[in-house]
Amino acid sequence: MNVPQMFGENVFNDAVQKETLPKEVYKALRATIESGKQLDVSIAGSVAAAMKDWAVSKGATHYTHWFQPLTGLTAEKHDSFIEPEGDKVIMRLTGKSLIVGEPDASSFPSGGSRATFMARGYTAWDPTSPAFVKEGTLYIPTVFVSYTGETLDKKSPLLRSMTAIDKQAKRILSLFGIACKKVSTTVGPEQEYFLITEEMYEKRKDLQLTGRTLFGAPVSRGQELEDHYFGVLKPRIAEFMADLDKELWSYGIPSKTKHNEVAPAQHEMAPVFSTTNKAVDMNMLTMEVMRKVAKKHGLVCLLHEKPFEGINGSGKHNNWSMSTDAGFNLLDPGNAPEHNTLFKLVLAAVVKAVDDYQGILRASVASAGNDHRLGANEAPPAIISIYLGDQLGALVDSIVKGEDYVPRKALEGSIGVPESPIFPKDATDRNRTSPFAFTGNKFEFRMLGSQANVSDPNIVLNTIVADAFEQFADELEGAKDLESAANKIVERELKAHYRIIFNLDGYGPEWEPEAMKRGLLNNKTTADAVPVCFEDKNIQVFVKQGVYTKAEAIARADIQLENYTKIINIEALTLLEMVKQDIIPAVSDYVADLCANVAAKQAVNDSIPCNTERDLIMKLSEGNDKLSSLIVKLEDTLADIHMDEVVPASQAMAHEVLPVMDEMREVIDGMEKICSSEYWPYPTYFDLLYSVK
Ligand code: ADP
Ligand code: MG
Repeated sequence: MNVPQMFGENVFNDAVQKETLPKEVYKALRATIESGKQLDVSIAGSVAAAMKDWAVSKGATHYTHWFQPLTGLTAEKHDSFIEPEGDKVIMRLTGKSLIVGEPDASSFPSGGSRATFMARGYTAWDPTSPAFVKEGTLYIPTVFVSYTGETLDKKSPLLRSMTAIDKQAKRILSLFGIACKKVSTTVGPEQEYFLITEEMYEKRKDLQLTGRTLFGAPVSRGQELEDHYFGVLKPRIAEFMADLDKELWSYGIPSKTKHNEVAPAQHEMAPVFSTTNKAVDMNMLTMEVMRKVAKKHGLVCLLHEKPFEGINGSGKHNNWSMSTDAGFNLLDPGNAPEHNTLFKLVLAAVVKAVDDYQGILRASVASAGNDHRLGANEAPPAIISIYLGDQLGALVDSIVKGEDYVPRKALEGSIGVPESPIFPKDATDRNRTSPFAFTGNKFEFRMLGSQANVSDPNIVLNTIVADAFEQFADELEGAKDLESAANKIVERELKAHYRIIFNLDGYGPEWEPEAMKRGLLNNKTTADAVPVCFEDKNIQVFVKQGVYTKAEAIARADIQLENYTKIINIEALTLLEMVKQDIIPAVSDYVADLCANVAAKQAVNDSIPCNTERDLIMKLSEGNDKLSSLIVKLEDTLADIHMDEVVPASQAMAHEVLPVMDEMREVIDGMEKICSSEYWPYPTYFDLLYSVK
């Protein structure tokens, strides 16, 4: 395989554009992509024709406007290129079909921002993310908006948030004499996932309907030996990963790192970072390709945040930074951050933004699946805090406390063998327990769930940092002495937001009470995290930065709660079905067999001991009775919930339904451990986690 040659072979990228477009058209298109110039509509016809010719040469017969509705998934509707001409057809893509599409929007969630009778929704081409060919179809990345202009997707607000931060960051940079065309945020999302065999997957209704196991006793060998992390890849997994890379590279996705993760059957892929909107599109495509390639190998890729209880779940680390079109990284501290006023100002803006808007940042990663991860000592707690590491931590401490700063230089390390080279040791150590950690020249936001669309947290991050930049720029633009005015802001803001900085162990038991003392939010469930989005301050920041209207902000929070409520409802119904139709009958059959055994033994001689059978009969029968009463409890609880009242419904799901499901799970897992494996109707955690040989 010639990787440089096949990388991006399915993408209508810069090189292909340059080769296939008339010079003037190419230039106009690049101007839009690189410096955000409004798209010149007159070039659309020419781009469409070139794109179509290229796609047809790759075997495409159809095109689709590819978009990201509020379901959190991607959506596509395929149209063929054919256009009748006499008895024949020709292949054609017009400028208009490239630029706008009109899928029927009535069945996508809109949170009330668009009544279904006004079903008109439009998709509009996003030229900043390149089109690509997949399985005979040309995919054109688009935004999705309603007839009246409300955004109905995750991409348009993301683009708006990128515009907002571009505008405000440029104001800050120009104060420091740095001119640039565009400031873009960059994202490198690390993706965790599980692989199990298709055969096992098909036997678990819960995995199929909800993405996670609703019960399952812990396996005797979980992750305690810590031998899976970075362990040798099993041949079947290695083949999957090789195939995955090949396919991702063909779509121009720079898949870089692959390894086994902490839990058995868990793995990770990390790409090289790109501009945020491209990174989002690539991550959506990555998840899809992972599922598809897995299927080819007889495997199923589980992207749920917590497919299995008792072992680690899967997340997505959102590495985030900002850089100019010339490649200047605004979060690069340089060699002497203490003298780097611009860097300190940027850092203060991020610290301020994250503290002021910790609620919406937390809410942006809230989902039914992620609730199982956050705070479970495998992922950061539900409390937002910032880790700066030794070097920056000491710098910020010195500013806040007015003390002298003693720079920490990177130490030289050696592994202690004479032959080994000396390597530079980072000035910052890793802290895996922090939700928002500075890692050299970027922040790593670690709270995201594995199946999340990474737009959500990036919309918030871009918006709130843009807002802080705006406030700083407003203050500084009139300043006589920029250095001293900027340093004053840095000191003021770091003092005001010092509480959000926490450089110690986020998993430790001391942190929760300490965070409470500091007044930080600790919203553990989606139902409790999302309502902050209805607070005026949290709406206004989006309105002010031109990212959401008030109605859009509210609609999105509504949809998030509605989605959460629906997911828990499906989980509860699935659990009820599995218990009633399979578990209770299986256990009852086993008990009947045990009873028959006791009767048979007694018939032979009533002094033959039957204590084992009797004990099992008792425990399993009690278990079944307990389940029966919990079924009634769960059904009654569900019946009392009015699904269309989103706030109370989500509260009931979090605080009434899930606890009953947990009670049921405890009973089921207890029974699984003592029930004959011949009778147990579902694959166990052992079967699932060790299914790939
Ligand atoms: P790790 O955190 O596993 O040690 P790295 O720090 O090298 O690995 O990078 C992790 C991820 O961060 C990668 O996806 C990488 O592309 C991304 N990344 C590196 N620099 C930036 C940046 N400036 N902006 C956004 N993401 C970045
Ligand atoms: Mg990392």
